[in-house]
Amino acid sequence: MCYYNDIMALDNNLLARQKLAAALFPKIEESPQMIEARYPRRQLKLGAMVTRIAPSPTGFMHLGGLYTALISERLAHQSGGVFFLRIEDTDSKRAVPGALELIINSLAHFGLKLDEGETELGREIGDYGPYQQSKRASIYQAFVKQLIVSGQAYPAFETVEELEELTKKQEASKVAPGYYGPWAYWRDKTPAEALAMLDKGFKPVIRWRSNGDPEHQVIVNDMFKGRLALRESNQDIVLLKSDGLPTYHLAHVIDDHLMGTTHVIRGDEWLSSLPLHLQLFATLGWQPPVYGHLAPIQKLVGQSRRKLSKRHDPEASVTFYDEAGYPPEAVISYLLNLANPSFEAWFMSHPDKRWEDYLLIIAELKKGAGALLDFQKLDSYSKEIISRLSLNELLEQALTWAKKYDPPLAQAMSRDLAYTTEVLNIDRSGERRRKDIAKWSELRAVIGYFYDDIWAATPLDLASQLGDYSLSEIRTIAQAVAASYKPQDSQAEWLAKLRQLSQTLGYAPDTISYRQNPQRYKGSFGDVAKIIRVLLVGRNQSPDLYAVMQVMGQERVRTRLANFTG
Ligand code: GLU
Repeated sequence: MCYYNDIMALDNNLLARQKLAAALFPKIEESPQMIEARYPRRQLKLGAMVTRIAPSPTGFMHLGGLYTALISERLAHQSGGVFFLRIEDTDSKRAVPGALELIINSLAHFGLKLDEGETELGREIGDYGPYQQSKRASIYQAFVKQLIVSGQAYPAFETVEELEELTKKQEASKVAPGYYGPWAYWRDKTPAEALAMLDKGFKPVIRWRSNGDPEHQVIVNDMFKGRLALRESNQDIVLLKSDGLPTYHLAHVIDDHLMGTTHVIRGDEWLSSLPLHLQLFATLGWQPPVYGHLAPIQKLVGQSRRKLSKRHDPEASVTFYDEAGYPPEAVISYLLNLANPSFEAWFMSHPDKRWEDYLLIIAELKKGAGALLDFQKLDSYSKEIISRLSLNELLEQALTWAKKYDPPLAQAMSRDLAYTTEVLNIDRSGERRRKDIAKWSELRAVIGYFYDDIWAATPLDLASQLGDYSLSEIRTIAQAVAASYKPQDSQAEWLAKLRQLSQTLGYAPDTISYRQNPQRYKGSFGDVAKIIRVLLVGRNQSPDLYAVMQVMGQERVRTRLANFTG
């Protein structure tokens, strides 16, 4: 008899919870089983990894986000798996116009190829969508509805003020903060009490009924950090907010399960929630993916290292690298070098390969502190990559950047593309290939002087750089060189002529003669070359002077030299 009563009570409880679930989610008809059937297991070859990048559309793409995306992309594609984009936009308060576009464009700009998700604005590919969480509300709700029925979740009706009050009480009692155990007011309320609140029009959040114990240590295996012991969570965290959308904790668990993610690679800030996430997987009866947490990229400030900050460091945003004019391959190669020390040797010994050909080594990803951002290193990757571009690629990339960020330079460069091609081609062959451009924002300084409308040096600037020489001396030399310059002269002829001319003007034809007898000369051949160089390019540094003059052409050379009136 007693046994019969127990069963009746259980049935009554179940019925009450079913009633509550129906009242909370009247529109949800699809069962979790029906949903699971719509997301069949992926057919993958052994060892293939399914990874994803799951940004929130905040209007900002962090360099660390790109780093995580790159590692996820490499692991998926080098194992013959799938890399997809999921937009985690369940926080409607944080929605920013244009944010989605920024994510899609940034991934495309850096060449990270997506197999699934919204690969173009408004166009989604893949069979495991929708890939935008805000479009999946009914999916999350179906699972939560079932958790209500099974008693593993419950509605809670506290106001913000009541929750603040709770925190104060916990502080006063010196106990751990949060919504758990005895502090979880709605945890032990009956379905009838919750239904009464719903009848009065109150909107609850749905909380998980945790059975975790923080005294328990959970052993987890992080794919980068290895074995870790973490505390179990006893928090009755919010699964669904009162607007019906899920929190990150629940949403990613459901999505990564349904979408067949095998490896979740994400930032370190999620590591402490890992036990909670594993507990949620267990509650839902699912096998969790492998998790890997990456330490944030750091920067050196004075003597100390700190996390690259979205608020304080412009270089934290990926758009910074585009504006500065780093080729995307340079940024990606640099990030691969941060991830794997072996990358550098591979990169240097495979000039004909692309970064996609490199096989990322998981074991080389640093376990401890995050990698340090080093612009010198980035520049050296970038210089190398720019020096490896074909002439056409160089022209195209330089022009694309200039059109966007330096229109007057783009205009000057576009006016005569054959001329610009010659300008860019100086010193690009042979052993000592030119490697002086690290980013396109340096173009103006490096090639601007070839264009009369960009050339900005005033006679005063030039004269001040040549302060060691009298103005009349500069003029004499400039005019003599202008008159004698013939573009058809070979390099040897040109050099011989210039030495000869130096001698005529009272300068030693070479350094040795000058050193042997300095009092005989006004200076040496080097002084003459310096004067010519400064007058032509605006500073005492340039690629080979003969090549520069050849490309500039007779008229421009003569004008610049003969017109110097400083
Ligand atoms: N939306 C989360 C974030 O932006 C994603 C974390 C994850 O990859 O699971 O941090």
